[in-house]
Parts: sequence; C-alpha cells; structure tokens
Amino acid sequence: MAIQVTLISHSPDPLRSLYMAYRTCYSQLTPKQILDRIGDDRITDAQMRQFIEERLKTGHASPLEQVWFEFGISGVSRAFSHQFVRHRVGISFEQQSQRYVTYKEGEFPFTVPETVRKAGMAPQMEELFGRVAQLYEEMVAAGIPAEDARFLLPNATNTNFKITVNFQSLLHICDLRLCTRAQWEFRKVAALMRSEVMKVVPELGKYLQPKCGELRMGYCDESEKDWAACPIGRVRPHKDALFRLYDAHRRGELAPLGEAEFAVIEEHDLVEPR
Ligand SMILES: Cc1cc2nc3c(=O)[nH]c(=O)nc-3n(C[C@H](O)[C@H](O)[C@H](O)COP(=O)(O)OP(=O)(O)OC[C@H]3O[C@@H](n4cnc5c(N)ncnc54)[C@H](O)[C@@H]3O)c2cc1C
Repeated sequence: MAIQVTLISHSPDPLRSLYMAYRTCYSQLTPKQILDRIGDDRITDAQMRQFIEERLKTGHASPLEQVWFEFGISGVSRAFSHQFVRHRVGISFEQQSQRYVTYKEGEFPFTVPETVRKAGMAPQMEELFGRVAQLYEEMVAAGIPAEDARFLLPNATNTNFKITVNFQSLLHICDLRLCTRAQWEFRKVAALMRSEVMKVVPELGKYLQPKCGELRMGYCDESEKDWAACPIGRVRPHKDALFRLYDAHRRGELAPLGEAEFAVIEEHDLVEPR
C-alpha cells in the first residue's frame, strides 16, 4: 500500500492569522482594529507578507502555534506510527484501531521496505505474513478478540491517521524528520506534508526544511561523522566547523588579506565581460 498524505483543511486564512498574532504583540491597535484595517485594505496583503517574513527571521515562535493544518495519512507502517506519536506538543492524533478493526479473513495490509525488495527477500516476508494472517483468522474464528489476535501482527502492518498539527510543531517535525538521519518512511511523510502545505501557503511551506536548511538553523548539529556521510552536508556547514572558525576569529588567527589577494582582486579578467 502506497503512502498517502492529504491536506484535509487548514486555518481559514493562515497568513492573516499569523499577521494578526504577531501584530497584536507589536501594535497599540486592538485585534479588532487590525482586522478592520485588513478588511478595508489600509493594511495590504503585501504589507502583511512583508511583516510576517521579517518576524519569521526572529525567535518569536509562539504566534506560529495559531496556524493549524489537518492531514489524512494512510499506508504507513506501525514502525512509522510509533515514531510519529512520540511528538507530544502541538499535534493531535487519531489512529486506526487494532482493537475495533478486525482484519477481514485475516488479511492485513503491510509495507515491504525497498531494501528488502532489493535483497530479493520480499517473497519470504510475504510468505511469513501469509501464515500470520492465517493464524490471526483462526484466532478470531476461535473467539479471541481482535485486541488479542493483533499480538501476532508485525511492525510492517499498515495504519491510518487523521491528525491536526500547528505550524510551529510542523516546523519542528520537519526539522527532525526531513533530516537524512530520520527513517525513510518518516522522511517521506514529512516531505509529502511539506508539498501539501506548499500547494496552499508556499509563503509558510518554504520554511518546512530539515534543521540545517537556510531558513531554519542553517547548520548541522548531528555528529561530524553523520554530517560527513550526509549528501546535504556538502552544502550545509557543521556546527563544530562554525565554532572553530569563530574561535580562530576571536584569537585573531584568521589569515588577513595579503598582497597576493589584492593582486587577484586587481586582475582585469576576474569577472567575465558581459
Ligand atoms: C534520528 C532520530 C532518532 C531517534 N532515535 C530514538 C531512539 O533510538 N529511541 C527513542 O526512544 N527515541 C528516538 N527518537 C525520538 C526522539 O527521542 C523524540 O522522542 C522524538 O523525535 C520527538 O521529538 P521531540 O521530543 O523534540 O518532539 P515533541 O514531543 O513534539 O516536543 C517538541 C518540543 O517540546 C519539548 N518538550 C516536549 N515535552 C517536554 C517536556 N515534558 N519537558 C521539556 N520539554 C519538552 C521538546 O524537547 C521539543 O523541543 C529519535 C528521533 C530522531 C529524529
């Protein structure tokens, strides 16, 4: 079963909500006065966007909690779902139950990872799950409740979610789960949530990046070994490299520009003629 992520709904006017949340903090105007000014265009759409853009460069994050997104997520494994529900703040989950849902004829949907397929071991996995399905069916037929028969089911079993998440929490989830260190399935779900948000509010969607993204921390805080192994490491600095540079600067050890550099600067052919 393929992973599916659908944006069901979101704050009716995310940019206005965010603008009003920030503006209320920094203005003598009441929220009602701000709303009226948006209504009669004394505050234009362009002004709202620019104000938000500036605020998003700061650490004032609580207004981001006032914008929410609702997603339907299906075709994910229970291996994924256990990681997903570890996120505790600013997100509400409803997940398909294995107590109230009994798999008909024992047939449960499951995910076979690409690595298993590539190793040619998918048939063995499917054969084992076929036997699990058969025993599950026998247990249910013997009167064992689904909540106990499910003890047979593997991490690969698929599940579905309906979630609501606020923008601040979604940023945090993407910080962690778009990182190449996160599990492939979670990276896929986070990438699909990002692309759904990009379709409706690209002004906010573009901030959904891994934590090393230029609109987030901008550097990698994983181990240097992991950073070196990361394909994105080629374009993002590691935090230790930044500190080493900063320390060298404080000790006055950064090499000053010398005559050789100035000679290069003065070269005629440095810039291609247009
Ligand atoms: C690459 C990777 C590997 C992982 N490996 C493991 C593993 O091996 N074992 C394992 O158990 N988990 C593992 N996790 C899960 C991880 O430990 C977190 O539980 C999960 O990522 C949720 O993150 P969070 O706590 O930052 O998010 P949230 O729960 O959404 O929290 C959001 C923010 O609020 C803060 N916060 C939330 N609750 C509290 C609180 N009670 N007190 C203070 N601050 C709070 C958090 O620190 C965070 O900054 C892994 C996660 C990743 C990304």
